[in-house]
Amino acid sequence: MEKQIAVKNLDNLITKVEAARLRVSEHHIVKIIGISKYSEASDIATLYSAGQRAFGENKVQDLKTKSEELDELPLEWHFVGRLQKNKINNLIDLKPTLVHSLDSLDLAEELNKKLEAKNRTMACLLQINSSHEDSKAGVLPEEAIEIYKQILDSCPNIKLKGLMSIGAHSQDRDIIKKSFITTKNIYDKLVPFGAKYCSMGMSSDFELAISSGSNMIRVGSSLFK
Ligand SMILES: *Cc1c(COP(=O)(O)O)cnc(C)c1O
Repeated sequence: MEKQIAVKNLDNLITKVEAARLRVSEHHIVKIIGISKYSEASDIATLYSAGQRAFGENKVQDLKTKSEELDELPLEWHFVGRLQKNKINNLIDLKPTLVHSLDSLDLAEELNKKLEAKNRTMACLLQINSSHEDSKAGVLPEEAIEIYKQILDSCPNIKLKGLMSIGAHSQDRDIIKKSFITTKNIYDKLVPFGAKYCSMGMSSDFELAISSGSNMIRVGSSLFK
C-alpha cells in the first residue's frame, strides 16, 4: 500500500466516523481499530505513518508475527478472533491492549486460570451473539448480563471492559440495526458494572453501529485497500 492511499483511506474513514459520531453527540467519542488481518506489517507501518495507532488481528500467531515485526512503533494491539484454549498462553505473553472476543464463561474460566498462574491480568470484552446466528461466536443476549456478572465475580484476573458484537449477517439495514441495538441495550445495563467499550461496526456497517451507540469500531477492508 502506498502512503498516499493509506492517508486517503484513513481520511475518508475519519470524515465518516466524525460525521456519524456528531449525529449522536459532540461528546460521543469513537475509537477506530484498524483490523490488519489481511495485510502485511509494511501496510500497518504505512497506516501508522498516516496517523493510525490501534490495530487488531484475529489469529494469535499473526498478532505475534506482526507485533514483533513492528516492535519499534508505539502501536496498540487488539485481538478480535476466536481464541482456542491451546493458544491462551501465547496470547497472554503478547500482552494485547484489549481482547474483544471472550465468547463463553468456560473460556473466561480457562483464561483466568492461566492468567493467575502467570500473575497477570487481561482487559477483555464479552462477545455477544446478538443475532442468534449459529455461525457466530458469543453468548446469547438473554444470558449476557448474568454471564458478565459471573465473570466479574469469579475471574479476578480478567478485567472486563464491555461488549463486542458483529452485526447481523443481512442485507436488510433494519435487521443489522436491530442486532446493534440489542447489544447496546445490554451494554447500557452493564455501564454501572464498569463497562466502557461497546465494540460494534466493521467496514460495511460502522455508521449504523455508531448511530446505535457503538464507541469502538473494527475496520479492516476499507482501510487496507
Ligand atoms: C475481519 C474482522 C473485522 C473487520 O472487517 P472488515 O469488514 O474488513 O472491516 C472486524 N471484526 C472482526 C471480529 C473481524 O474478524
